[in-house]
Amino acid sequence: MHLLVVEDDARLSRLLKRLLTQDRHVVETAFNAAEGLEVASDLELDAVILDVGLPDKSGFDVARTLRKGGSQVPILMLTARDSVSDRVEGLDAGADDYLVKPFAYEELLARLRALGRRPPSRKSTALKAGPIELDETTRRVTVSGKPVDLSQREFSILECLLRRPGQVLSRDQLLDYAWPYGVALTPNTVEAYIHLLRDKLGNEAAGHVETVRGVGYRLREA
Ligand code: CA
Repeated sequence: MHLLVVEDDARLSRLLKRLLTQDRHVVETAFNAAEGLEVASDLELDAVILDVGLPDKSGFDVARTLRKGGSQVPILMLTARDSVSDRVEGLDAGADDYLVKPFAYEELLARLRALGRRPPSRKSTALKAGPIELDETTRRVTVSGKPVDLSQREFSILECLLRRPGQVLSRDQLLDYAWPYGVALTPNTVEAYIHLLRDKLGNEAAGHVETVRGVGYRLREA
């Protein structure tokens, strides 16, 4: 995802940028509200991670300004207090979700993934590779136009691969994506699901889900 982190705490900002970049996100940073608004209006972002307590204006103001300007970018608010009034104000201001500091990085990732699954209306929601088409809004998958019935996990694994065409994804990355709440599973589980997935996709489409020996899986586009 292409992300913007608006956070004046330089240490936290650096840490988030490092971790999110390791997880293959593209991360922009802004350290106050004005900068955040500028970056958000210049770039096509997939989500904004927005701190409430900023030096010039509050994160609530930033969210309100973005929404007033017609932006539908998903916003994840970071708040220092878990109070009902903060939550309500954040959601009223146009935030999609919020996270209370201090938070576990894994939880931030899970929230981002959830936001990523709610595609903004300006974007096409179909992911394609060869005969495979996956619609993230309706959660329907077709191969050469014929519907394929996938379980939730199979769908998530395919979605994860389709979102990063040509990129090798490790079993751990797929596990993390399809089972965001860290259920204790082994990478063998992923292998089993890939097997099921290929089976359901059928011969022609299955060839697009490639095994990269000793590393993981890759989606072949053409
Ligand atoms: Ca702050």
